[in-house]
Amino acid sequence: MALYDGFIPVNLLTGFLGSGKTTLLQRLLANPDMANTAVLINEFGEIGLDHLLLENIDEETVILQSGCVCCTIRGDLSNAIRALYNKRERGDVPSFDRLAIETTGLADPAPIVSTLLADPVVRHHFRLGNVVTTVDGLHGMMQLETHPESVKQAAVADHLIVTKSDIAAAADVAALTSMLRRINPAASFHKSADEDLRPDTLFRNDIYDPATKAAAVGDWLRTEAEHDHGNRDVNRHDRGIRAFSITEDQPLDWTAFGMWLTMLLNRHGENILRVKGILNVAGAETPVVIHGVQYTVHPPAHLERWPTDDHRSRIVFIVHSLSPDSIKRSLAAFNGLANAA
Ligand SMILES: [Zn+2]
Repeated sequence: MALYDGFIPVNLLTGFLGSGKTTLLQRLLANPDMANTAVLINEFGEIGLDHLLLENIDEETVILQSGCVCCTIRGDLSNAIRALYNKRERGDVPSFDRLAIETTGLADPAPIVSTLLADPVVRHHFRLGNVVTTVDGLHGMMQLETHPESVKQAAVADHLIVTKSDIAAAADVAALTSMLRRINPAASFHKSADEDLRPDTLFRNDIYDPATKAAAVGDWLRTEAEHDHGNRDVNRHDRGIRAFSITEDQPLDWTAFGMWLTMLLNRHGENILRVKGILNVAGAETPVVIHGVQYTVHPPAHLERWPTDDHRSRIVFIVHSLSPDSIKRSLAAFNGLANAA
């Protein structure tokens, strides 16, 4: 990996909701080359789940939640990086030699890249390296057509990783790939299902150069640099989008829960941009993790153990124009039926 004459490389991992950012981060962090990597995860909702899915959460893992670092909690990004660096200097955390930042799926990468390139304190110790963007092989085309953030995430990337190509139709993956090549012809392309994505593949020549990207990227970064947004920027995202979470203290009846989720997605899949959860299922010793994007529910995964002492079920939804209360009420009704049975 390139030497950075004393600067700590920062790698941005972005990609739309449910495109596989955390799964990729987990894979990369499992590689010994990434042993000394600090991690900063930004989650849109008030409950963070992604960090619970990473095998080893330690003091080098920073969670920024309840807002988006591209806008509503923008200032928190450089503050968190600064604080992490000071801890490193004081020896409060192991001396990490790389920082990986996972954005929310809704993030506009331009203000984040701009902060990492321009913030005077960040620049003093860190150097923006390669930007890696995951694109959902199943939903990517629709997301590019519907969500401007998704196009910007693709355009700023050094590496574009098409995920779920093993379950998507080959023709759809081909159409998506050619659309991505039009948006970002300079990027390196990978299919996560086919390739052993290794740090030394993704972080070779690891210096971010906006000049190698489409002209639009330069325009976005200039606009960001010209406008001082201060620490708190207005919400940049579609106002119809909101995140909420449901917490259940009692173990869930798996059959009832599965039926409820399937019916919910069948009915409202269009507007359920993302659902993910860590579940306490009746009769199961360890937690069950669920992931869904619109109409698609991925096979549940079983964690080896509870990542913390909190064994409540937590489900995070990111929806468009759907009332959280109606979803909460329908789950409560289902649970009620299941418990009465
Ligand atoms: Zn934002």
